[in-house]
Amino acid sequence: MRHSVSVTSLALWLAVAFAWGWSTPVWSDDAPVAIAIHGGAGTIDIRKMTDTERSAYEDALTAALRAGHERLRAGGTSLDAVVAAVTLMEASPLFNAGVGAVMTWDGRHELDASIMSGADLNAGAVAGVSTVESPIRLARAVMDQSEHVMLTGAGAEAFARSIGMVPVTNDTFTIPRRREALERVKRERNGQATLTDLVAPHKWGTVGAVALDRNGNLAAATSTGGMTAKRWGRVGDSPVIGAGTYADNRSCAVSATGHGEYFIRYNVAADICARMRYGNLDVREAGRQVLFDELLPNGGTGGVIIMDPAGNIAMPFNTQGMYRGSIDVHGKLTIGIHGGSEDAAG
Ligand code: ASP
Repeated sequence: MRHSVSVTSLALWLAVAFAWGWSTPVWSDDAPVAIAIHGGAGTIDIRKMTDTERSAYEDALTAALRAGHERLRAGGTSLDAVVAAVTLMEASPLFNAGVGAVMTWDGRHELDASIMSGADLNAGAVAGVSTVESPIRLARAVMDQSEHVMLTGAGAEAFARSIGMVPVTNDTFTIPRRREALERVKRERNGQATLTDLVAPHKWGTVGAVALDRNGNLAAATSTGGMTAKRWGRVGDSPVIGAGTYADNRSCAVSATGHGEYFIRYNVAADICARMRYGNLDVREAGRQVLFDELLPNGGTGGVIIMDPAGNIAMPFNTQGMYRGSIDVHGKLTIGIHGGSEDAAG
């Protein structure tokens, strides 16, 4: 009996250890890590971009990639990595998120952001916040410290204050270029557009990141000021889980940029992951189908960054350009702005 008890306990112990081994990822220094980011898609005319402008974007993208990648290499989570990368881009006036966000018709900023964890499908989002310095940090806090997924407007700001985030004034986010863009759109809509207004580049500029950590967990994050001259109260795809952001360890992590109304209607981020999960497509084909077969023929323009659990990366866009970059599982850093494909294999 004694013997049979100890055999039973051994069998039990082995069963538990086996089950634990299956469900608990094994951390290893060699486990692959990878990160990809975007800084918006749209009409980015290469002939109008000076070398100085180009290198400013390249430097900002590189800094954001490195910030995220450092976390991953140090054993940090993919959630920490995407927040680190997106926070830096929110602080940069080059992108349409945080400082440098576009303006509403009324000349204010209303910011949206979301984050998702591929390990457990946990998510957090904020929409229409106007005094929160880093919307992505607030989205993370909604995920980690509240029982909700999305908070909006005054409620989101009250929550931010309740967890000790110090409010900033709305004009903290204003840069002259965005005010000029608003005035240009207003002239266009009033039928007073000049030739310069009509040929002015149209770009989206949202920022986002996807990452894979040493535990094999994916995460995605997106942050934006939305679209120039949007109505107050308008919410785009960026804070909508499934539209602008999605992460699921069983398929992929996606962050999107583009004409948000289309990305919501076509449920872009979740659709890409679903095609991978149920249709066995790879990152490249899933992204191509959704951007070029679904969105483009129906008028939806923009781009996405996609990463699968092996660290394979695709960064397709159906616009002239997309600010983007990645550090793949081999540590190779790639930055791109205009056409061309820098998909990376895991
Ligand atoms: N997708 C964003 C929105 O519609 C805009 C962008 O990507 O720049 O709010």
